[in-house]
Amino acid sequence: MVLGVDVGGTKVAVAAVEGVTATHAAEHPTVTVSADALLDGVEQLVRSVIAEAGEPEAIGVGVPSQIEFATGTVETSVNIPLVGVPLREELGGRFGIPVFVDNDANCAALAEAHIVGESHLLMLTLGTGVGGGVVIDGLTFRGAHGLGAELGHIAVNPDGPSCPGNCPNRGCLESYCSGQALERDATELATDKPDSALATRRGPEGKVSAREVVAAADAGDPDALVLMENFARMLGIGIANYVNVFEPARLAIGGGLSRASHLFFDRAVQEAEARALPALWKRVSVTLAEGGADAGVIGAGVLAALEIERDRDTGPAKATTSKGIE
Ligand SMILES: [Zn+2]
Repeated sequence: MVLGVDVGGTKVAVAAVEGVTATHAAEHPTVTVSADALLDGVEQLVRSVIAEAGEPEAIGVGVPSQIEFATGTVETSVNIPLVGVPLREELGGRFGIPVFVDNDANCAALAEAHIVGESHLLMLTLGTGVGGGVVIDGLTFRGAHGLGAELGHIAVNPDGPSCPGNCPNRGCLESYCSGQALERDATELATDKPDSALATRRGPEGKVSAREVVAAADAGDPDALVLMENFARMLGIGIANYVNVFEPARLAIGGGLSRASHLFFDRAVQEAEARALPALWKRVSVTLAEGGADAGVIGAGVLAALEIERDRDTGPAKATTSKGIE
């Protein structure tokens, strides 16, 4: 048994994980005042799960940040105050067992691959931004230092809008297929067309949220449907690119925006089919993600289980330094 920890911008979730089954799940709000306070909160929650579930062999942690994998050091992070913190050492010292840390989208992709039993899988997570992960032979592809694969930051239009992420590029997939992108376009449209249905959906700050765009499209509003058509087309272009590079057996779409998949999924697949190399396309299945709300903790748990298995084969990973528990 291992523990999976999913650190989100608003909540931390912890569960005992065996295979792809999570039990003894617990969660609490993320404390964001300081790194120490956040880690204290994680420690408290982990200890409460250990008290119920028993001592784990290792702990896997998913964080919404760029992670240098060897040390689990957070390189950049939008929502949580952990930049520069070597999480493997910090948490390994607190618990005295191996700790492994990865980007949350990598964990989600790993969970999906193991839940559906597919060893070559690519997953896109469509939410506020666009995240993603690539699983090859059942293991996460991370690049040389663990900072890959940033699937949201491929340009699908060289002259497109500035990327809303922590990214200097323009026309990234995240510039089109994210909640932030929908909000930007809908707000601009509402400003240009004050008599439009979208203009009536502006919030207190004058912005039209992605949720309102989806609601307007569901109500048949032609402006919102045009925004969703653009979203779907750009997503299809991205999917074709990923299929051509990675040739996954399965490409899964998850994240909060996937709940609005009836507004973009079929159109995105149609666009991808028209663009991907036929020999690769006919072998891939594009689906919605099957992992549910606990996919984050399951993916972190699968990560820990895979890493201790690898350590048994090759000796302990050098980056796991344990200060012991005083
Ligand atoms: Zn970008």
